Amino acid sequence: MTHGVAQTTAMQTTGVAVLGGGLAGLNAARLLQQAGIPCHLFEARDRLGGRILTVDATGKPSTDGFDLGPSWFWPHMQPELAALASELGVPAFAQHTAGDMVFERSQREPPLRTDWAGQDQGSMRLRGGMGALVQALAQGLPSGCVRLNAPITHLRLGQDGVVLDVAVDGRPPEQWLARHVISTLPPRLMAKAIRLDPAMDPATISRWQNVPTWMAPHAKFVALYDRPFWRAAGLSGMAQSLVGPLTEIHDATTASGHAALFGFVGVPARTRATLSRDALGRAALDQLARLFGSQAATPRATLLKDWATDLFTATQGDSAPSGHPTAPDAPMVTGRWADRLSLAGSESSHTEPGYLAGAAEASNRVTRALIKRLSI
Ligand SMILES: Cc1cc2nc3c(=O)[nH]c(=O)nc-3n(C[C@H](O)[C@H](O)[C@H](O)COP(=O)(O)OP(=O)(O)OC[C@H]3O[C@@H](n4cnc5c(N)ncnc54)[C@H](O)[C@@H]3O)c2cc1C
Repeated sequence: MTHGVAQTTAMQTTGVAVLGGGLAGLNAARLLQQAGIPCHLFEARDRLGGRILTVDATGKPSTDGFDLGPSWFWPHMQPELAALASELGVPAFAQHTAGDMVFERSQREPPLRTDWAGQDQGSMRLRGGMGALVQALAQGLPSGCVRLNAPITHLRLGQDGVVLDVAVDGRPPEQWLARHVISTLPPRLMAKAIRLDPAMDPATISRWQNVPTWMAPHAKFVALYDRPFWRAAGLSGMAQSLVGPLTEIHDATTASGHAALFGFVGVPARTRATLSRDALGRAALDQLARLFGSQAATPRATLLKDWATDLFTATQGDSAPSGHPTAPDAPMVTGRWADRLSLAGSESSHTEPGYLAGAAEASNRVTRALIKRLSI
């Protein structure tokens, strides 16, 4: 079979090709494996997890570290994620909130300390960080099922399925034939990064481009300390600031006791691009010292992750604040592709689009429906 293109390497085959090794892709691969359906997962990065990124003090991926991507889930509102964590045996613990909050209103006034008791939103974290979920999912997959450094660049619809081009550094693309493709890329990244042949209808592509990729415009700063000194001073580690550069700060101390504070950077992505990491880091530490005392100025390490510059998450459209995605009100895949391609990342969720729970819901729903179809 040529599918109209010259074959560059021997074509490999699989039942289902899963695109992306974030929470949604890993969960889809897990369900397919459990159902006995052959599948391969193609991940563009050299690591699994996608927007989940838990690292140690040096910034290396870790399963007992600090979350540079998502930190929280809310089990009372998001049962699917709680169920997944519990099924995988990853324990949860409550976000530390005991103590006062600090509010910084303007540069002219000193920060205000307030009692915020009663406003706890029930945010839960995972022991080890969200990376523990990724590790647990990956451990359940057979060796050879996951391909890292394997960005998909091109999907071609053929008679027997979909032919995928996998870019391989310095070599002609590898080609795979899959009966079905589950893509978990954020829709607007999918529209930009993967060429479809035949083209998807323009109205659907335009819908993909208009779905904001949740948190892609954001950056997270983490300061690591020898002890959570703010707790001893009766502070929760929570702060809100209209001054910046951090707008919202929280205690990021790990369940194993490694102390840290993290903040969302309020400087917009386009302005961040003009600043050095050092300058931003220094301004963030000055602010932490204003809010939590002079000890905050001398962390043992700092970490900064700017998601807006990460080409496997963000597109140009994510350099401006884009709001929260909403549940799709029409099918995410249309026309001739509808039988062979499904979108199952968080932004396609019917219940919690953008959230981890959305990644769990969308991948559960789409993969179970496909398993049913393929098993008939
Ligand atoms: C800073 C930040 C904080 C957040 N905080 C929270 C929170 O507290 N709670 C919460 O519920 N959610 C939060 N989120 C959102 C949460 O991270 C996402 O909802 C979730 O991780 C999405 O998972 P996913 O698998 O759908 O997509 P992703 O994790 O984006 O996975 C997509 C995967 O596709 C891969 N990929 C990209 N291009 C290609 C290609 N061409 N070929 C193959 N693979 C490709 C990517 O590398 C990636 O691994 C946060 C996100 C960020 C960035």
